[in-house]
Amino acid sequence: MRSAECRVRGLKSLTIPLCIAGWALPILLSGCSPSQHIYKRSQLLMGTIVEITAVAGDEESANRAMTAAFNEIRRLEDIMSTYKPASDISRVNASAGLNPVKVHKDLILAVKKALIFAEMSGGAFNIALGPAIDLWNVAESKEIPSRKELSAIKPLVDYKNIIVDEKEGAIFLKKRGMRINLGGIGKGIAADYAYDVLKRHGIKSGIIAVAGDLRVFGKRPDGNKWGIGITHPRKKEGILATAHLADMSMSTSGDYERFFIKNNIRYHHILSPDTLQPARGFQSVSIIARDSTTSDALSTAIFAMGPDKGLKLVEKLNDVEAVIVREDGRTDMSSRLKEHPDVAIEFIKESRP
Ligand code: ADP
Ligand code: MG
Repeated sequence: MRSAECRVRGLKSLTIPLCIAGWALPILLSGCSPSQHIYKRSQLLMGTIVEITAVAGDEESANRAMTAAFNEIRRLEDIMSTYKPASDISRVNASAGLNPVKVHKDLILAVKKALIFAEMSGGAFNIALGPAIDLWNVAESKEIPSRKELSAIKPLVDYKNIIVDEKEGAIFLKKRGMRINLGGIGKGIAADYAYDVLKRHGIKSGIIAVAGDLRVFGKRPDGNKWGIGITHPRKKEGILATAHLADMSMSTSGDYERFFIKNNIRYHHILSPDTLQPARGFQSVSIIARDSTTSDALSTAIFAMGPDKGLKLVEKLNDVEAVIVREDGRTDMSSRLKEHPDVAIEFIKESRP
């Protein structure tokens, strides 16, 4: 069993040791209700660390619930990962321009949801960006694609060419070479499904953190909200602010996880569908919403929209709040966040300009 400090993006929670792929670790805190303990476990899934925190009366029931939740995330990964050639999504992509592919209903639901966020964001959130994401391959390549390469794939990234046939349970991509990629919403979907599993197992309070996408529910045994650190986009290991949350989700999209710098310009993994270049205007966008599918999709969407349009959209949406860092380092938050009954944001002093 390997012990590690929690270093999950968006969640720099709070010097509590955890076990990678290990057994639950009870954490007794002063002021806790004596019959309720906090248990934590983490596993490597969806190419990242998934950490589950569950409040339960005993280790056995905590473990049973957490194991089921991890298994649920693994099940979704098998359907939605583009890294797995046999996944439903990979089969859809391989048949682009040829024929519709029957898929699991969870992929139908995921794509339908993604298309709603595409419309909501005026096309900034776009799961048809697969060919552009692969061309940039920011995680591994340090090369800037040429204009010619980018304009060649432009006709392949129109999300309106994704056809969902609910009656047949099939998805069809109209053009050969199209590829869908759920990188901007899949981890949030996974957190929501895992939350449902924990609830079904009787867990009333906890956190599911799929990297920077978190679903927080209930309160800590001591009656307080859960405290989650928002990563500072420019200070390694640093925290920008702490969010105290009850029954809310939070997702952070930033330009600091997957990026390279060339000629003093930072190239990162969130693309503007208009230019097919990394979106400009933010260092990071944290979105707080009721569910993590929404917070994940909107953190990517708002980042891709840029500050002017993006923050207008946040102000328009009910139950959606934002904590942002602009490209020049200025921090800000949405206007209703200060009075929110279920959220309190505390900036680390030196992070406020
Ligand atoms: P992370 O995946 O690091 O948690 P995000 O949730 O912001 O961060 O998702 C970024 C991922 O979403 C990218 O790696 C890519 O797969 C995909 N993506 C990039 N740009 C867009 C976009 N404009 N709309 C939808 N998905 C995008
Ligand atoms: Mg996202």
